[in-house]
Amino acid sequence: MEKRILGRTGYEVSVIGFGGIPIQNVDEKTAISLVEEAHKQGINFIDTARGYNESEKLLGKALEVVGRDKFYIATKSMQRTYEGVLEELKTSMENLKVDYIDLFQFHNVSKEPEFETIFSENGALKAIKEMKEKGIVREIGVTSHSVDMLDKLIDTDEFATIQFPYNAVEDQATKAFAKAKKKNIGVITMKPLAGGAIPLGEICLRYNLENENVTLAIPGMDSIEQIIENTSVGNNPRKLTDEEKAKLQDTIKDLGTNFCRRCGYCAPCSVGIDIPANFLMEGYYSRYDLKDWAMTRYNSMEKNAKDCIQCGDCEPRCPYDLPIIKMLEHVAETLV
Ligand code: SF4
Ligand code: SF4
Repeated sequence: MEKRILGRTGYEVSVIGFGGIPIQNVDEKTAISLVEEAHKQGINFIDTARGYNESEKLLGKALEVVGRDKFYIATKSMQRTYEGVLEELKTSMENLKVDYIDLFQFHNVSKEPEFETIFSENGALKAIKEMKEKGIVREIGVTSHSVDMLDKLIDTDEFATIQFPYNAVEDQATKAFAKAKKKNIGVITMKPLAGGAIPLGEICLRYNLENENVTLAIPGMDSIEQIIENTSVGNNPRKLTDEEKAKLQDTIKDLGTNFCRRCGYCAPCSVGIDIPANFLMEGYYSRYDLKDWAMTRYNSMEKNAKDCIQCGDCEPRCPYDLPIIKMLEHVAETLV
């Protein structure tokens, strides 16, 4: 597996890391087999978060079997206060069954008030820096969905790594990545497959790694097949061919910018609609010739797009400012 140095951390990490969102949906036995396979295929970096439900716990069980020392473990917290973040760090370590965290990240810092609280005199950064002095946290990083905020976070010089979405339709952080690289800040790319919107796994990952400012990409994986496909990119590094580039361009042409990355930040819907699942089904219906399958799944949802009461609660929570209400209207009109 190709390895790169993760900025100021000095960690030599596999260019494909293990994104820990989807593992929350599997059982313990499967989680163990996934982590075993990841190790076998050369992955040495696992990224999870307090906010990924059972992800930390399942990874903790798997690490007991596969070995904590086989991986750099990264987790993150949405807490912004001194006490809040310490509480979450403790929970993360208990879940993961580890006595230190290789990379602790402030999760999705995208708005000004969050930045202010983290950096305030008794904010979360102070707490985590104290933990770093004690060796409980080895390195400190940050993740974001706002490119302006990312720029500001890089300028603070407080972080060894940044994590940001990056793929052929979300390349707005390209300049920020270059700036980070100059400052020797490691660059971790999330959503390398645009949250599943681009169905070209290998090509998408090669696209990520062609950017020399990117250290590693962390696709979410919950099957052995995905692990083998994704790690093949790092195990056989090469540039994209002209045909692959053309294929990627053809695929993204129809996608535009108004598409859901399935980050889930819009939840909870006030009437219980699984918002990203509805967009996903519309995608399968319209783009992948899976009409019957998509309709069956859509109709079996307890609540779907046609149940939206247009209360508007979800829209301010979407980091991509998607017109969710309008988009759901479109879903309801399409899947009939
Ligand atoms: S606008 Fe619709 S989808 Fe959004 S929270 Fe309200 S009911 Fe749910
Ligand atoms: S609608 Fe927005 S917040 Fe919700 S999952 Fe999609 S991209 Fe994320």
